[in-house]
Amino acid sequence: MAPFDAGRLLLFLFMPLFFAAVDPSVDASTQVCVIGAGIGGASFAYFLKQYSCSSVNSPCLSEIHLFERRSIVGGRTAIVTISGDTFEAGASILHPKNFHAVRFASLLGLRPKLKSSEFKPDSNASDSSASSSWFGIWDGSSFLFKTKPPPPASSSAIYRKICSFINAIIIFRRYGFSLLRMNRFVNKMLESFLLYYEGFESRPVFDTVEEMLKWSGLYGITRRTLKEELLDAGVSSLLLSELVTVITRINYGQDINISGLAGAVSLAGSDDGMWSVDGGNWQLAAGLINYSNVTLHLKEEVTSVSYAEGHNYVLSTKEGIQYHCGITVIATPLDELNITFTPPFSIPSRRLQHTFTTFVRGFLNPKYFGLNHVSEIPNLIGTVEVPEVPFSSISILKKYGKEDMVYKIFSRKIMQDRLLDEIFSLRIETVRIDWPAYPHFEAPEVFSPIILDGKHLYYINSFENAASTIETSAVASENVARLIISRLSDEHQNMANKKFNAADGDLFHLDL
Ligand SMILES: Cc1cc2nc3c(=O)[nH]c(=O)nc-3n(C[C@H](O)[C@H](O)[C@H](O)COP(=O)(O)OP(=O)(O)OC[C@H]3O[C@@H](n4cnc5c(N)ncnc54)[C@H](O)[C@@H]3O)c2cc1C
Repeated sequence: MAPFDAGRLLLFLFMPLFFAAVDPSVDASTQVCVIGAGIGGASFAYFLKQYSCSSVNSPCLSEIHLFERRSIVGGRTAIVTISGDTFEAGASILHPKNFHAVRFASLLGLRPKLKSSEFKPDSNASDSSASSSWFGIWDGSSFLFKTKPPPPASSSAIYRKICSFINAIIIFRRYGFSLLRMNRFVNKMLESFLLYYEGFESRPVFDTVEEMLKWSGLYGITRRTLKEELLDAGVSSLLLSELVTVITRINYGQDINISGLAGAVSLAGSDDGMWSVDGGNWQLAAGLINYSNVTLHLKEEVTSVSYAEGHNYVLSTKEGIQYHCGITVIATPLDELNITFTPPFSIPSRRLQHTFTTFVRGFLNPKYFGLNHVSEIPNLIGTVEVPEVPFSSISILKKYGKEDMVYKIFSRKIMQDRLLDEIFSLRIETVRIDWPAYPHFEAPEVFSPIILDGKHLYYINSFENAASTIETSAVASENVARLIISRLSDEHQNMANKKFNAADGDLFHLDL
């Protein structure tokens, strides 16, 4: 017979009182409310369902309410439709070592599609790497650097491989061993990041982002700029001012003074083997929400969160409904939101980088680039940091014909019609999106707390100042799910111990 464990018995006796799911209109001490149905909120719901009730001591939090102000889920993973074809409008690429995303896709039966990064566009035409590595660096008046255009689609695989190899040599001739040093820096970051997939025995639960980053050895590079880190790593100023600048402008709309970790993540986005979910990355969030069997409140915008001592959080929506929740999790950046918190708390102010994403069907004007024919314009035009360049990048997403393509433009300011009419000879369709895209990364980074009020109000996106990606959202969400389970277990264990100490005579009697 197992030895008598009074604490555990009491835990069981009291569990229904503290952990039972409750109706929103009545008491709701253990209902979990999540604000935001992007990948952060969706993966949080998934992890919480996985970890709750997973062992004798872990609480059972089965009721999760997920609030989304829009009519669709996915947040910054979204698609746009141009002339009947869909394209990623927000987060478009995943790294092969984004292991949560890899696992989610497999669990949900989603098909991964090998994809070149923004930095290596034109994956659509199922071209070889030779085609996708045709890029040029534009400084507003001329191309500082260009790789060779791809061979015709009819050419042999060997010939295409040779062309790709020649391009690699051309790039190496310009930037030399600095490329290897840059790769070493990125790989070191990736190795540290992989620690977040370690098992629970060796991986602690973290109360703060700082602790989380210090544990993996990544905190230091959030304190310094990417430029400082790469110069110390021996990277040449030519590579910094051209290729590295091009990549940070494409992936985060910012220059090489962004903080080191965000910069390293951005550079990792130009690795080989990048992928996306066939049909759209938004399906990761949608699939996880379905899988986790949460109650989804679409078109319900949370406008206030109030906490009354000894009670619960009361979430009020713009639609005039109130929900009572024992635990509230914020899965969206608070920086540009108007949610009132009572009692109030303060978090470090953070500027979001707005990225304007403009999709154009038509074709570029070669004259704008000092060229004679559209076929001379590289598949990807990256740009350097000079004020007169009005966009960060232009890339081809799909080719319908020699003078009929879909392009994606990233810029820091809106692309007005007048400007687009200079850049394009023909525009059949234009779609513009203004994304409050990611933090404006600034070293040394300062992080908001994960536990905002010392109680049960949690903030997943405090991790976003380290780096903003689908995978980092999932990693941050997993930690918050574990943190909640761990804190509740501790609270209830303490409560059980108190009860036991106060009434051990009764308990003994009960056991008899
Ligand atoms: C243009 C662009 C390109 C990017 N490229 C990549 C990439 O290639 N790869 C990559 O990994 N990452 C990329 N990212 C970053 C990535 O998209 C984000 O880091 C990630 O999607 C953030 O997910 P999230 O769930 O934390 O936030 P979000 O996706 O922003 O989700 C938050 C959700 O909360 C909802 N919400 C907000 N306020 C309320 C409220 N009051 N009540 C109810 N609901 C509310 C919002 O509508 C939204 O749906 C890119 C981002 C942008 C904008």
